[in-house]
Amino acid sequence: MHAYYADHFILPLPSGHRFPMAKYGRLRERLAAEWPQVRLGQALPASDGELALAHTPGYIGAISQGTLDASAQREIGFPWSPAMCERARRSVGATIQACRAAMAGEGLAANLAGGTHHAYAHKGSGFCVFNDAAVATRLMQAEHARHHRAGGPLRVAIIDLDVHQGNGTASIFATDDSVFTLSLHGAKNFPFRKEPSDLDVELPDGCGDAEYMEALERALDELERRFEPGLVIYLAGADPHEGDRLGRLKLSFDGLEARDRRVMDWAWQRRLPLAFAMAGGYGTDMEATVQAQVNTYRVALDYHARWAALARRAAPDAPAVVATWATAGTGPRWQNAAP
Ligand SMILES: [Zn+2]
Repeated sequence: MHAYYADHFILPLPSGHRFPMAKYGRLRERLAAEWPQVRLGQALPASDGELALAHTPGYIGAISQGTLDASAQREIGFPWSPAMCERARRSVGATIQACRAAMAGEGLAANLAGGTHHAYAHKGSGFCVFNDAAVATRLMQAEHARHHRAGGPLRVAIIDLDVHQGNGTASIFATDDSVFTLSLHGAKNFPFRKEPSDLDVELPDGCGDAEYMEALERALDELERRFEPGLVIYLAGADPHEGDRLGRLKLSFDGLEARDRRVMDWAWQRRLPLAFAMAGGYGTDMEATVQAQVNTYRVALDYHARWAALARRAAPDAPAVVATWATAGTGPRWQNAAP
């Protein structure tokens, strides 16, 4: 299963900054050590043209040149630097690459960061510079349209289970019927002015595993009734965990894993490719956040194996080692891996 990272582009933060930047490198270390089935690849930067599918040219220019005004920069929560811009572009690139890999027959692929759902078309917010899921959605739709002239647009469901509402994503797709935005989030948590998604489910403070899973089940039923996606982008935030200092919910590790399994199983049952991003996670103990994320990969590998078995049944003579993902170029391209 392919997963893309950009944590080696260090975003310089002042000492004592509350964002746990180290979690990204730590997740990569743990995946490399424990799950060799996860093929880690460096994310490529999203271009201006790609970003412009979901962001205004003025905002892209201001981020690129460092000319955002002080209050807009404060709303993002990171100081500007060339590295901040580069990292934000690569985090979008990682979700793009994950979507391409998932859609090229892998079934599932991941971004080790991403899920920056508070970014609007014209501004960033809440540690989110560019909206990776929004850009990747629009780009996958454009690539799909090039290859399938008939049959309508690629329909994308963004299932956002980060504990905070996906306000930027909801705003970007507010009038777009080809994208379904679903957000399950803490009612009393940031952002305090929420944007209407296609489906919003508000959860009370202290919500535990059982209540959460019931809400998720109802939400997936409603998604099923209202929309027929061709691609799922899943924001697997670790911040609903009981050990999170910002989350206000009380999901256990088992609860988070059941949540991941339910979403991935839902997509698998419908044979929908699924790309996932890690989104938020602010554990009092950073290792707890990383553990929840590693658990997400364990579940994903289970479903990835089912997709691989399906591909083998469809093409029994194909080599058992499927491929390495060639990251250069704009379209999906497979190469046989050396044994
Ligand atoms: Zn969050």
